[in-house]
Amino acid sequence: MEFIDVEKRFGDNVVLQDLNFSVAPGERVTLIGPSGSGKTTILRLIMTLESLTDGYICVHGRPLTHEKRGDKRVALPKKQVRSNTKRIGMVFQHFNLFPNMTVAENIIEAPIHVLGMSKADALEKARALLKRVGLADKENEHPTKLSGGQQQRVAIARALAMDPEVLLLDEVTSALDPELVDDVLGVLREIAETTDITMLIVTHEMQFARDVSQRVMMFSDGQIIEDGPPDEIFTRPQHERTAKFLSAVL
Ligand code: ATP
Repeated sequence: MEFIDVEKRFGDNVVLQDLNFSVAPGERVTLIGPSGSGKTTILRLIMTLESLTDGYICVHGRPLTHEKRGDKRVALPKKQVRSNTKRIGMVFQHFNLFPNMTVAENIIEAPIHVLGMSKADALEKARALLKRVGLADKENEHPTKLSGGQQQRVAIARALAMDPEVLLLDEVTSALDPELVDDVLGVLREIAETTDITMLIVTHEMQFARDVSQRVMMFSDGQIIEDGPPDEIFTRPQHERTAKFLSAVL
């Protein structure tokens, strides 16, 4: 994945400017940094939940929403953008499950409507995924009947049902009671160990970041101020701002 000269403004608020970085296929990268530094915005741009003000994002070699033609920046047709985002999954802090659907219905919705899978195949897949996240007995429950940790594991199963090439995790344990955090992180650790999904992770769980990511990017005011292996960043931060941030969260 590549960010090329990315700019994102909300009105006069310049959140990201001249942002450039690449993430290799299969790489797992944790984004850290103070509140407001633009981490969530980066994930939402990749998910096309926010629109780019300027610049380009490419995912696995394909331009996501805009491409450069000569010296012009051209928006891609909506249909193409939708197709480009099919294999990008996101798990949110507040789960964002459909409350009026059962657990299984939540998981099969996109595979049926976006990938054109048959209901029987989608259900079979959903059941396998529910087993994988430890919720084999919950397929007919409604999300509101589940604990936060269980809802988040359904959300992870829902993202995996689309066979994502890229998985975006936005503070997925921040809304959970402490005793539910480990189950969710355990599921994500298993996914990290057994798949080659590219993962971008925004988290305050530094031990988790250390365990699953090969790389940590520290953001400050929408810029990357440090970028390297977790062991280096966490034990020998080069930047005073990184050291200060880490001393507050570690
Ligand atoms: P946190 O750790 O608190 O989640 P963050 O690093 O993820 O912070 P973002 O949520 O990306 O930061 O926000 C970056 C900036 O963009 C903030 O100044 C925020 O107020 C602003 N912002 C984000 N979303 C919107 C929006 N929809 N409309 C206006 N401003 C926004």
